[in-house]
Amino acid sequence: MIELIVASNNKDKVKELNQILGSNIFLLKECEIKLDVLESETTFEGNAALKAYAYAKQFNQVAIADDSGLVVEIIEPLPGIYSKRYSGLSDHENNIKLLDVLKNTNNRNANFICIIAISFPDGKIFTYEGKLKGHISKELRGINGFGYDPLFIPSNENKTLSELGQAYKNKHSHRSKALMKLLEDKDEIINYWRYSWKR
Ligand code: IMP
Repeated sequence: MIELIVASNNKDKVKELNQILGSNIFLLKECEIKLDVLESETTFEGNAALKAYAYAKQFNQVAIADDSGLVVEIIEPLPGIYSKRYSGLSDHENNIKLLDVLKNTNNRNANFICIIAISFPDGKIFTYEGKLKGHISKELRGINGFGYDPLFIPSNENKTLSELGQAYKNKHSHRSKALMKLLEDKDEIINYWRYSWKR
């Protein structure tokens, strides 16, 4: 079992990471001390790597980070890497701003993107991407989840992620898809941990 410290201050994300990964091969551990990492890169991948490496280096442990967000086709690449700070206020205001921006368009296509990065203290980084296709609803619906979940309707569904609930999200989300790729690649990570890093 490899212990991974979680490079995140976002409780909702950490909850989902824990629920999806379980504790079979990787055991997630939250740090008591949280680092304030400036997300200065211009891509999800860059920011995920930045966060994971900052924690790995600081605590000399293997770290996992998630950088994720919503990309809306008609205003692409926005909100994108700025998803969390889109309105400068909270999740609710972000959703209201997005509804306002899309009020005169029929193109409501959007993708949720998640990059999971695993970083070793020596700077070795593994990244995995997950994507969930869908569109933005005309109004907020549902009470579960966080962020843009009350607005996002996955392709082939007619309910928002908030209405579909946590079990659906854990199985089908961008985060779940990225973590499934990580699990498919677990031997690479374990081998690096055993033979390169731990020696
Ligand atoms: P980060 O902490 O910089 O990666 O920002 C992530 C932001 O993207 C969140 O604060 C949400 O606004 C949005 N986001 C990412 N994943 C999800 C999700 O699973 N559901 C809803 N919103 C999400």
